Amino acid sequence: MSHTTLVGERVLAAEGARPAQVRIDGDLIGSVTALDDVQGHGPDVEVLPPGSVVVPGFIDIHVHGGGGHDMAASPDSMRAAVDFHRAHGTTSGLVSLVTAPVEQLCRQLGWAADLAEAGLVAGAHLEGPFLSHVRCGAQNPAHLKLPDTDAFSRMYDAARGHLRMITIAPELPGALPLVEQAVAAGVVVAVGHTDATYTEAEAAYVRGATVATHLFNGMRPVHHREPGPVLASLDAGARCEVINDGIHVHPAVLREVLARGADRLVLVTDAIDATGVGDGSYELGGQQVTVSDGAARLDSGSLAGSTLTMDRAVRRAVKDGIPLEQAVAAAARNPAAAVGLDGVGAIAPGARADLVVLDAQLRVTRVMRGGQWIS
Ligand SMILES: [Zn+2]
Repeated sequence: MSHTTLVGERVLAAEGARPAQVRIDGDLIGSVTALDDVQGHGPDVEVLPPGSVVVPGFIDIHVHGGGGHDMAASPDSMRAAVDFHRAHGTTSGLVSLVTAPVEQLCRQLGWAADLAEAGLVAGAHLEGPFLSHVRCGAQNPAHLKLPDTDAFSRMYDAARGHLRMITIAPELPGALPLVEQAVAAGVVVAVGHTDATYTEAEAAYVRGATVATHLFNGMRPVHHREPGPVLASLDAGARCEVINDGIHVHPAVLREVLARGADRLVLVTDAIDATGVGDGSYELGGQQVTVSDGAARLDSGSLAGSTLTMDRAVRRAVKDGIPLEQAVAAAARNPAAAVGLDGVGAIAPGARADLVVLDAQLRVTRVMRGGQWIS
């Protein structure tokens, strides 16, 4: 078994960011030892440059593409998008599939299952097709369906045990039995792309939903007499995805979610293929998307995913005044908990050795996954 020992002046482990030595045995973290200072180690110990911050690898549970690669386009494209986000510190997470015909989703779920079985992702997230026409955002309305337990079963089978999460609009007829079916099958149910009232959204949480898909975006807005799915999600103690790109939500939204509990906030990218490529014309789920100044929109003006990466989401959160520890937890520990991933999301003995080394400005300098540095 290979051994690596890293020493850094700011290692973000259980006790917060402090000097520590991290020993890596094979693909796991063997030990984390707090240090008084980082000097005077043997030649087999690598001391990271001053100012470095070592954080757990990020976990993105909502992402559609990046680096010019659309995850829904082909198996190679799905893999290439995962690799693109890896370089930005995402060492685990889900593959998110936008609404499409069920047969097509089944095929894409098969590709995601291949990646999951190769250990490259933790599974798939179905964002559709059981979503609201009224709040469909960039989901292609031509392929939205009413909740259908047979269609769900077909997709569940196609994912070969790797369907981790499904976003459902709970107000649709038949939605609540589908929530129960998915939860019973071990699939995390997220409430999203929904025009539900507070009471309708609450009913989904009572039946076992636990996540809110990009809180505020793609849902009925808060009104003081009908606070809708947003307050229902916060009141239910849901893990709340937030797209923190400076476009989708105001920073006050992050503070509000955190005020409900430090473990509630889940940073996601919802990134599309344009991420890391630049402004221009792209396609998402068969619809034309224009990216301008980093904002991806349909012709209707509706936001169509983002061009965010997890490292930028964390940097922005810290710039917005969120403590580093909370921002990193929202990018690692909380998403792991949201979709039930064990052994990732923390720098702790026994966890997979997934680490991101950031510089003092919180830019990614190196990424380790399963004990291996990514080139
Ligand atoms: Zn999405």
